[in-house]
Amino acid sequence: MNDLIYLDHAATTPLDSAVLDAMLPFLRENFGSASTLYSIGRAASEAVEEARISVARLINASPEEVYFTSGGTESDVWVMFGVPSAKEKKGRHIITSKIEHKAVLEPCKILEKRGYTVTYLDVDSNGLVDVDELAASITDETVLISIMHANNEIGTIEPVEEIGRIAQEKGIHFHTDTVQTVGHIPVDAPSIGCNSLAISAHKLYGPKGVGVMYIRKGSRVDRLMPGGGQENNRRAGTHNVPGIVGLGKAAELAGERMPSEAEETTRLRDALISGIESRIKDIRLNGDRIKRIPNNVNFSFEGVEGESLILLMDMNGICVSSGSACTSGSLDPSHVLMALGLRHEQAHGSLRMTLGKDNTMPQIEKVLDTLPGIVNKLREMSPLYSGECCPGGGCK
Ligand code: PLP
Repeated sequence: MNDLIYLDHAATTPLDSAVLDAMLPFLRENFGSASTLYSIGRAASEAVEEARISVARLINASPEEVYFTSGGTESDVWVMFGVPSAKEKKGRHIITSKIEHKAVLEPCKILEKRGYTVTYLDVDSNGLVDVDELAASITDETVLISIMHANNEIGTIEPVEEIGRIAQEKGIHFHTDTVQTVGHIPVDAPSIGCNSLAISAHKLYGPKGVGVMYIRKGSRVDRLMPGGGQENNRRAGTHNVPGIVGLGKAAELAGERMPSEAEETTRLRDALISGIESRIKDIRLNGDRIKRIPNNVNFSFEGVEGESLILLMDMNGICVSSGSACTSGSLDPSHVLMALGLRHEQAHGSLRMTLGKDNTMPQIEKVLDTLPGIVNKLREMSPLYSGECCPGGGCK
């Protein structure tokens, strides 16, 4: 990537070269379908089962609880439709939060049209769900609670263990989207007490278009993809063998690297946060300062437009984002930032920088040398900004 400074790991991560090496034989000589009996098929099927073991180990699950899917979106959508359908006789109420990924919120909208009631929990100004409010919103009709482990835009870590305990006590299916946490911080499915969780390979240095749905033994989830009998008859379709092998390798590497990687990204993240706070005024750190994943930095800059910031940063060789990758390109302000109580202009003036294993302190220093000048320049041109650009106002 030469001199490019890539700070958008929440959107996607580069493919690890060891992951690519593991995948290549299954794109070349071992191209057989994992459902066949001859040798190249058996090799594929064995590799799929090895990958299942690696993913299971990473989340402390048993391999039979791991189902391969096409990614985080499919896993979320599967549970959002599969649980209400399996529990149709029990009731038609779902609880989620206002800051979930669209892969959870869009199915909720469809379910509402089908007569389901959905409670969208508010979050506080740091993005945290209130567990008491969640408990109070449970009714006899509640069949599903879906609260993400960590938010993809602001990095806030939700109290999923507490939610898991409440859901278990009440016998309600608890799903958590762990797309931004698996491989980066410890995710122990039994300790969370969830019935299902979603994983995406391309967020942990694996390939795009492959993921996992963990379903705890005994949890009822109807199929999303009927067809052949793959994945124990729960998710049909010829296995994406190279993708699954890549995910298995990525999971294995993540397990080995996690403690040191988390420590280093936390160090870089904190340097970036404090560097921005000391150099630029009229800003807001979005997301919880403490309950935050190691790689997330998200700020709103008064009087600045996020898209312009991204373009000018890009001209300086720095890749950043203004919100979730799926919603950038839309003019609507981020639903996550709006749920924190930000004004439209603040939500539009946000920048997300998400770190990865190959980022370095000199790169953070380059960002800190570059960003204040860009913010000042945009503020000088902005009709929305009336304050002094930099401490002391010396820039004008
Ligand atoms: N959930 C969260 C929290 C995400 O950040 C993403 C991707 O941005 C997804 C789900 C969707 O994952 P995928 O890209 O594998 O469909």
